[in-house]
Amino acid sequence: MRYTVAELRMRRLRVPALIAGAVVAAATAGFILVQGIGAPGTGAFAETPARADGAPNEGTAPPSQQADSEPVGVPAPPHDAAPASGDLPAGTSVFATGLQGIDGLDPDLLAALRAAAADSGIEFTITSGWRSQHDQQELLAEAIVEYGTEAEAARWVATPETSVHVRGEAVDLGPWEATGWLAEVGAGYGLCRLYDNEPWHFELVASAPTSGCPALLPDPSYDPRLQ
Ligand SMILES: [Zn+2]
Repeated sequence: MRYTVAELRMRRLRVPALIAGAVVAAATAGFILVQGIGAPGTGAFAETPARADGAPNEGTAPPSQQADSEPVGVPAPPHDAAPASGDLPAGTSVFATGLQGIDGLDPDLLAALRAAAADSGIEFTITSGWRSQHDQQELLAEAIVEYGTEAEAARWVATPETSVHVRGEAVDLGPWEATGWLAEVGAGYGLCRLYDNEPWHFELVASAPTSGCPALLPDPSYDPRLQ
């Protein structure tokens, strides 16, 4: 078989083009394969989903955050420090000290709580007092997952910018015996429930000893302070 010069030129051009086409096809197939294996939620990474608030999962801290990798004698830079948390152990007494969740509270609120607890003879416990903005962001992210929408979550959890817990001006109390007692006579100490759906949440209301507690709001989403 004989080729004209023009046909030979075409063949020389076609062969590299075919090879290049095959390389592109193979690379595309490989890319799709890698994407399929590595896509979050499809297998390999499904067991370690990223947290909704963007914080790293426990146990996946990069080497720079692992204590044993810090050079000896060189203090860790501030950004590596864990954010302060107000998390309290279960059953924490209102008289406990040395815990950020209690030490961060408004001193007048804490004094009123302790006076009421002492007078009642009931063991008052604080399930949540002062919270860091990070604590509040975590609570909000969890609530959005639990309640499905931001609007429904807002009925239960404020944002880090608006939360009265972040300002140290609210406590969530237990047990029911304590909150029931406070709901009856707390106004005399300036301690008021504010939300109908949160019988455990109390704040200091300066006018309560003389004027009584304000009418309950259905839930925090009705609170003008939280808008
Ligand atoms: Zn609360």
